[in-house]
Amino acid sequence: MAETLNESFDLKQIQDFKGKYPKQLWFLFFSEMWERFCFYGMRGMLTYFMVYQMLMDKSVANLQYGATQAWVYAFTFLGGLFADKILGFRKSLFWGGLLMITGSILLMISPTDFFFTGISFVIIGTGFFKPNISSMVGQLYKADDHRRDAGFSLFYSGINIGAFLGGILMIGVGKGEILSNAIPEHLRWNVAFGLVAVVMTISLLTFALNHKKLGSIGLSPFKPEQNKKAKTYQWMVYIGALACIPLIQIMVANTVYTDYFMAIIGPFSLIYLFYEMTKLEKKDNLKLVAALIFIIFSVVFWAIFEQAGGSLSIYAAEHLKKDLVGLPIDPNMVNNSGNAMFVIFFAPLIGLLWLWLHKRKLEPNSVVKFGLGFLFLGIGFYTFFTNKFFSDAAGMTSLNLFTFGYLIITFGEIALSPIGLSLMTKLSTQKLQGVMMGMWFLASAYGQYVAGLFGSAITPDDSASAVEKLATYSEGYKQFGIYAIIAGVILIVISPMVRKLMGEVK
Ligand code: GLN
Repeated sequence: MAETLNESFDLKQIQDFKGKYPKQLWFLFFSEMWERFCFYGMRGMLTYFMVYQMLMDKSVANLQYGATQAWVYAFTFLGGLFADKILGFRKSLFWGGLLMITGSILLMISPTDFFFTGISFVIIGTGFFKPNISSMVGQLYKADDHRRDAGFSLFYSGINIGAFLGGILMIGVGKGEILSNAIPEHLRWNVAFGLVAVVMTISLLTFALNHKKLGSIGLSPFKPEQNKKAKTYQWMVYIGALACIPLIQIMVANTVYTDYFMAIIGPFSLIYLFYEMTKLEKKDNLKLVAALIFIIFSVVFWAIFEQAGGSLSIYAAEHLKKDLVGLPIDPNMVNNSGNAMFVIFFAPLIGLLWLWLHKRKLEPNSVVKFGLGFLFLGIGFYTFFTNKFFSDAAGMTSLNLFTFGYLIITFGEIALSPIGLSLMTKLSTQKLQGVMMGMWFLASAYGQYVAGLFGSAITPDDSASAVEKLATYSEGYKQFGIYAIIAGVILIVISPMVRKLMGEVK
């Protein structure tokens, strides 16, 4: 990629945009939407494919699925770090996209033979792509622009349009629910993974055709006179990333290595951050401490929220009636896509609500929004608990109430997740943008990891009756609901203190 700076789009001009959203947000929105289509499309296929096509033991498949998810988010930390130091956001995004396309092509050629190799390409590729596109959204705004949160809310809708479509379509093609007449049975999974490669190419082209509109945003941190050094370092990153692929392959296939990795990467990232903090002024460091508080709380949020891919999918399959307001809808489909659908509808509305409240000087600050996120999460999980009171003698209960619980949880996600992205870009110094975004997603890696532990802790014994199993899950969800509410109350109580650390950031 030639790094030509288009003078007509300098940073000031970009950030001085009129209206609600900067126009560069739109192609970032679409590029991320297609990338999430691929990511959630694959995520929705993985466990199913491992169990029913590769004939893996269910618990092994679950562990490997959890390891894959944890690795994906853990790599975003490294992707953010290398973007800050060497590649810049744009080159990182191109490189990540290429790796993701390569991985899905391998999976298309032979999903079973190249399974772990293909997935490893996708893991590393997502690490280079995912945090850096979010960081670029943040750079479209001046530090004090109150429209930033609304922009991230819109961007978050794009994420979920992709997640919704990919989550439904890919598994539909793979299982033969969609296009079953057009695709021979033995090729369905090849086609499903092939579609991922096509869609990821669309994502990358969307970015490639528009990236010049970003002016100086996302260029390499090296100065033009350091060109030779920059090239050497860039090649080292590319080669290093490729060299990691066989390692990731081994670690995902043997989940115990993932445990070791998770024990190391968190402390390592903290030590690294503390080292970077020694070079900064006190006021910048206080902001980073505030960012760390948000990051640590978000681990708890995702550990509870991400029951969705684990225990809630079994709960949905075994305890929910196939009846959504009178329609015979599969509970797992609701579990997989209901949340994304609610985000699509409500994230823009809530974005507008924040703007509306802002005009009336009533907008809650970010810490309180975060706290509200936890309260909604807690009430949602408590709703899952109350569902047991509507069960029949076979331990089957209401899909309607379950869906309503998801709606409440979605409000929590919208109050926390896009705001979290926005906060990382506001609280980091210019040089640490990628690292902090990477740490935000690293918290998701821990969340995914802990979600697996939480999920297995509330999994009932196989020998229990259906009613007893429902009671065990429900009790677990009640506990999670209570943890979330406690976390929300703590955040709201400490909000004045955290606000002080944040300085002028709202
Ligand atoms: N659903 C959001 C996304 O895919 C957030 C995921 C996360 O941070 N754990 O971007």
